[in-house]
Amino acid sequence: MMDKHYSVCPYCGTGCSFILHVDNDRIVKVEGNKDSPVNKGMLCVKGSTVNEFIQHPDRLRKPLIKRDGKFVEVEWDEAIKYIAKNFKRILDEYEPRSFSILNSARCTNEENFLMYELASKVLMTQNIDQCARLCHMPSGIAYSKMFGIGAMSTSYQNLEKSKVIMICGANPAEQHPIIFNWIMSAKRKGAKIIVIDPRRSSTARQADIYVPIEEGKDDAFFIALCKYLIQNGTVDWKMLERCEDYEFFLEELKPLGDVKELCEYCNVDEKYVKEICGLITKGPTTFINGLGLTESAGCVTNVELVGCLALLTGNIGKEGAGVAPLRGQNNVQGATDMQTMYYRKLKFDRKTKACYLDKIFDRSLSSTEMVEAALNGQVKCMYIMGENIAMSHPNASMTIDALKNLDFLVVQDIFMTETAEFAHVVLPGASFAEKTGTFTNAERRVQLVHEAIKPIGKPDWEIICLIAKAMGNKKDFNYKHPKQIFENMKNHIDLYSGLSYDAIDKNYGIQFPCFKIKEGSQSFCNEDILYRSFFYRKSGKALFPTVSIYPPSMKANRYFPFRLITAGVLAQYQTGTMTRRCKTLNKIISEPFVGVNAEDAKEMGINTGDMLEISAPNGQSIRAKAKISDEVKRKYIFMPVNFREARVNMLTSEKLIDISKTPEYKGAIVNVKKV
Ligand code: SF4
Repeated sequence: MMDKHYSVCPYCGTGCSFILHVDNDRIVKVEGNKDSPVNKGMLCVKGSTVNEFIQHPDRLRKPLIKRDGKFVEVEWDEAIKYIAKNFKRILDEYEPRSFSILNSARCTNEENFLMYELASKVLMTQNIDQCARLCHMPSGIAYSKMFGIGAMSTSYQNLEKSKVIMICGANPAEQHPIIFNWIMSAKRKGAKIIVIDPRRSSTARQADIYVPIEEGKDDAFFIALCKYLIQNGTVDWKMLERCEDYEFFLEELKPLGDVKELCEYCNVDEKYVKEICGLITKGPTTFINGLGLTESAGCVTNVELVGCLALLTGNIGKEGAGVAPLRGQNNVQGATDMQTMYYRKLKFDRKTKACYLDKIFDRSLSSTEMVEAALNGQVKCMYIMGENIAMSHPNASMTIDALKNLDFLVVQDIFMTETAEFAHVVLPGASFAEKTGTFTNAERRVQLVHEAIKPIGKPDWEIICLIAKAMGNKKDFNYKHPKQIFENMKNHIDLYSGLSYDAIDKNYGIQFPCFKIKEGSQSFCNEDILYRSFFYRKSGKALFPTVSIYPPSMKANRYFPFRLITAGVLAQYQTGTMTRRCKTLNKIISEPFVGVNAEDAKEMGINTGDMLEISAPNGQSIRAKAKISDEVKRKYIFMPVNFREARVNMLTSEKLIDISKTPEYKGAIVNVKKV
């Protein structure tokens, strides 16, 4: 008999809801959930084929311990005892700072929360981080500082009501296809689409205005837009009354050049400034941003300037308007919210209805710093849950050296990954379809996944509990069901405090903030539009940030004359561990390529299909076949991030940009050679 289980797509941050049809403990069909406000039954090619990886024969089924350089299958009991013994040894021999943990944006909120509990109550380390560090930490920092909540201020359905959608450094057509459907639906109703991106991506092709900006110079262009709005008096004065530090912002803008100079600097035709300002002041406008802003020079400032444009034009807190950072993995938002508990506490003042940020401490190592610390011997031990840093971290060869240098490495995942290869112990986790818990999507919607089939490995929350108990903490990790973890988590995270599994299930997800006012009651739950009348800051007002221009850290030169843009492709996801095991997706794309501009190719005698070698100043090089493409500007190349055969992060720099400690992945300088 066929069973049906409601679940959430494990890939991108859109968080599409679907129904898994299960026959005899096998998922036989994936059907989009028509009742879901997220996707109204729609699924992209990745989401509709998730069943192809879940029960793939490559799944890890038993724990592995490395003996004499080879992995040996062991029973759970033996693996957990071995880990506990080594964790204790590390804690005895070294200080707690020598311990580092990587959480996962692919695991549930409950599991991420529990990992923080393990860090603080058992391993006594503050070194715990997750992959948002590599992507959307700057969006979280920028928007929590300016508006109070580091998340999308709007919803997908509200996006459809926009009259203008300005997409900065994002390619939702490939990375968030169902969000792109909402965007196209707005376009069909008359909305104008603006795309600012160095690459003429599939999204840019649908734009009414496409601005082919130079990589890493978005901050200057946004400043030009701000200046134009201010000089022409086309700002929303009512909104400015709801803001703090506008005067400081004006002062800081003054020395940063005039509109003409700024446009020259970022190599953008000045006419776009007038055209775009004309559109966004008419609005209502939604401002979307992706990794093109957060992983480039400027980083947090890039996102803050997008927030400034929203404030100056009054495009926040109303229908069809808002700011919308697109999250890459399905639980980047949730994993970051769980981290909020550890680093900073968002406190809700029930009288003023304001939320404010209490910084607790930030002395811990970021995921990027952990790698450096492992390399220099300061970090001795890492416990990595559901992350593949040997592929995803910048300067991958340095990351691999760091992993090799560890005294003890535990990796928990559903497949043998490039990172797990270096582990001392590999633990088989469970996929989203084999456990119950919550994920939070990019529009702040907390949704439930239900155990649809028997776990092939073990649910990650159960593994964490086993390790904690084996380390001697029997009291705090006695959970029998993720619901109990969720109830405990609510005591620590105000934004989630009014939520319950039942309410989430009944509504096909609920958008946070959802504060508990008193026992049994909720407040502001499921608000699709934030900041209608107040911002979640102590003063209730939005804050204008301090701004400046941050040029790219590396300039192309005669030895490395090209700039490398990297991103995912439609039919693959992240480091490919799941999607490269899906037959349907491999039929669409199964090998890496180098996108080269036609004129550059002509000059260098390159044809589509020629093998190219791409090398970087760090001495590393990779190879892939050329694909002549009009997506790429002259002196730029594009490569997808999803293929281990051409590991693009061998070429990227580990340089951290600013307080977000996010690396400058975009725009690495490289040389291109036909081989
Ligand atoms: Fe999954 Fe994203 Fe596709 Fe939706 S858009 S089905 S969440 S990959």
